[in-house]
Amino acid sequence: KLLLEITDLAVEVNKKEILSDIDLYIDKGETHVLLGPNGSGKSTLFMSILGFPKYNITRGEILFKGEDITKLSTTQRVEMGVGVSFQNPPAIRGVRLKDLLKIEDHKGLESQDEELSPELMDLTRKLKFDESFLERDVNLGFSGGEVKRSEILQLLAQKPDFIMFDEPDSGVDIENVELLAEEINTLLDKDKKPGLRERSGLLITHLGYILNFVGANTAHVLMDGKIACSGDPTEILEDIRKEGFRGCVECCEIH
Ligand code: ADP
Ligand code: MG
Ligand code: MG
Repeated sequence: KLLLEITDLAVEVNKKEILSDIDLYIDKGETHVLLGPNGSGKSTLFMSILGFPKYNITRGEILFKGEDITKLSTTQRVEMGVGVSFQNPPAIRGVRLKDLLKIEDHKGLESQDEELSPELMDLTRKLKFDESFLERDVNLGFSGGEVKRSEILQLLAQKPDFIMFDEPDSGVDIENVELLAEEINTLLDKDKKPGLRERSGLLITHLGYILNFVGANTAHVLMDGKIACSGDPTEILEDIRKEGFRGCVECCEIH
């Protein structure tokens, strides 16, 4: 069985159909990329997988680890191992990043400790996070890149089996995209050999520049709420660069 199996999904928002005929299958250890123009429904698919109530599934099903999660709450999905990085996460005044990390990091432990676990601290050092960063209020006055990095730290603490990123590269300076991509690669086990990769991912990106640095197995192009084509990320990106999203659909072989 695959980690995530989406079959014939249709989704309405405010009684309007936004997505239809969505089939998406992601295996353990795989990273898929979702490309598409603004307004094509990328974030809607993201929110539907996460189970936000206003994204009304009218057809089809979503299986996670073989279990039908279509009717489960967002909290239940997160508890099953779905992790997310939002496009525009809010700032939280008065809550330090460390406070937020402690919730997941200390879960199931007696510890009311001020310190994070050695494992998490090792990972923060590996990803070159400055310790003073942990003392700052969540996302308050953070740069675009710092917001994304704080989300990555939160995901590290949560240890999900599947991570969705909604345009992690939006609002990030071009010179920081490579650094961000390295962190995403670490999160998605890309530094391990293919057979040893445990974690899966779905990376949504508008422009695709980040794909120069993030390893992905398959890309899908979403157009007007449908998956217009799927295939090798490098080839699809090349088609988009040459002819735009429409061109890609025309030369895609797999439908
Ligand atoms: P993308 O992430 O690819 O830019 P979205 O999923 O945000 O696309 O939007 C897909 C479509 O759904 C758009 O046409 C948008 O107008 C519509 N949409 C998004 N959010 C809402 C909402 N809250 N209410 C009504 N329509 C929405
Ligand atoms: Mg958008
Ligand atoms: Mg979006």
